[in-house]
Amino acid sequence: MRYSGFRVIAEALTGHKGWKPVWRDPTPQAEYDYIIIGGGGHGLATAYYLAKEFGQARIAVLEKGYLGGGNVGRNTTIIRSNYLLDGNEPFYEFSLKLWEGLEQDFNYNAMVSQRGIINLIHTDAQRDAATRRGNAMIMHGADARLLSRDEVRQMYPWLNFDNARFPIKGALMQPRGGTVRHDAVAWGYARGADQRGVDLIQNCEVTGMRIENGRIKGVETTKGFIGAKKVGVAVAGSSSKVMAHAGMRLPIESHVLQAFVSEGLKPLIDGVMTFGAGHFYVSQSDKGGLVFGGDIDGYNSYAQRGNLPVIEDVAEGGMALMPAIGRVRLLRSWGGIMDMSMDGSPIIDKTGIDGLYFNGGWCYGGFKATPASGWAFAHLLAKDEPHKTATAYRFDRFLKGLMIDEKGQGAQPNLH
Ligand SMILES: Cc1cc2nc3c(=O)[nH]c(=O)nc-3n(C[C@H](O)[C@H](O)[C@H](O)COP(=O)(O)OP(=O)(O)OC[C@H]3O[C@@H](n4cnc5c(N)ncnc54)[C@H](O)[C@@H]3O)c2cc1C
Repeated sequence: MRYSGFRVIAEALTGHKGWKPVWRDPTPQAEYDYIIIGGGGHGLATAYYLAKEFGQARIAVLEKGYLGGGNVGRNTTIIRSNYLLDGNEPFYEFSLKLWEGLEQDFNYNAMVSQRGIINLIHTDAQRDAATRRGNAMIMHGADARLLSRDEVRQMYPWLNFDNARFPIKGALMQPRGGTVRHDAVAWGYARGADQRGVDLIQNCEVTGMRIENGRIKGVETTKGFIGAKKVGVAVAGSSSKVMAHAGMRLPIESHVLQAFVSEGLKPLIDGVMTFGAGHFYVSQSDKGGLVFGGDIDGYNSYAQRGNLPVIEDVAEGGMALMPAIGRVRLLRSWGGIMDMSMDGSPIIDKTGIDGLYFNGGWCYGGFKATPASGWAFAHLLAKDEPHKTATAYRFDRFLKGLMIDEKGQGAQPNLH
């Protein structure tokens, strides 16, 4: 079933009786060529590109809950490619280019909105760093603009420009950054993968891996054993738990990240704004709610809910930046489990077990990476070699000291 404006009008006039479920509910087969564990954005995108771009078949995605119930449906929907380092920028710019054509590609309205993102600057040293980052972005074919204090004031006159600790001195802007309706991304990839014959198997938790003579043979699941020639793991916050089935310990910690939505307001913020110095970032949803967040909860956890100290910290950050929100009511908050790597950058790599591949360590920035991550992981699975934009995302970088530490924070996952 293709979507079109005519179809929407025809369905509206005939009582919406013609819509069909957009993916099947298949029974698992005994064996597949490829099993992808995790039906989040990255797992679904991997299956989609494996079938569409790399011509592979006999693919299943195994999801322990429902499609899109993990971080892909819990994030604050920001996309951007404003990275500094060589290992990162080409990958995230590739991702942004894929976002730009995604809706046409999978014929699904994911509400890709390139409304622009600004990172606020508060000191001269920060302006130097932002200039350097902007130049690195431009050199990699991305877009960047340095905004003066007056230009920021023209955009958002109600910001607290003269905060004693964090006066606003300008911003680094990426006009092509923005937001995407997160769960629609999962649905669009799921629908596209299903149309290409991928079995999307929900309520199917992977509980073990069968490995014989250093080679993966398949996975144990709550629906029984399923054989596979190759297995790709893309389970984000559950990475350590799932890879433990293969006897691997990862350079990853799991932490909670919370997000918040306020009651609906009249249009106030037409782009995305980050206030890194105060641990606060914000955009406004199409329904009018302020969508905002801040730092991760500072302890390891697999619980998809957060704690009060971070709520207080985020609210303080918001009040320091935009005191006008002091009387706005909070409508909803939730948490997701972050796969925090030791240098803040992801891993897309083979493992020491033949046929077992890993994708994770996305920290709190994996949503914007979804298309490139899926493409690069599919490339690795199909060709057994890394995609050219993901060559740095290897396990052994921690062994060799080749960390991709975008923030320069060191091996401190809770600071990335
Ligand atoms: C509050 C919040 C805000 C965020 N904001 C942003 C943002 O603005 N921009 C951005 O780029 N990123 C953001 N992120 C990060 C981003 O959401 C994640 O990095 C990304 O979604 C992770 O990849 P995924 O979509 O595949 O993960 P998930 O959707 O979590 O997918 C993993 C799936 O694996 C499944 N699974 C786990 N264990 C098993 C098992 N044993 N068997 C089978 N299935 C299993 C899970 O149920 C889950 O569905 C945010 C995250 C959160 C929580």
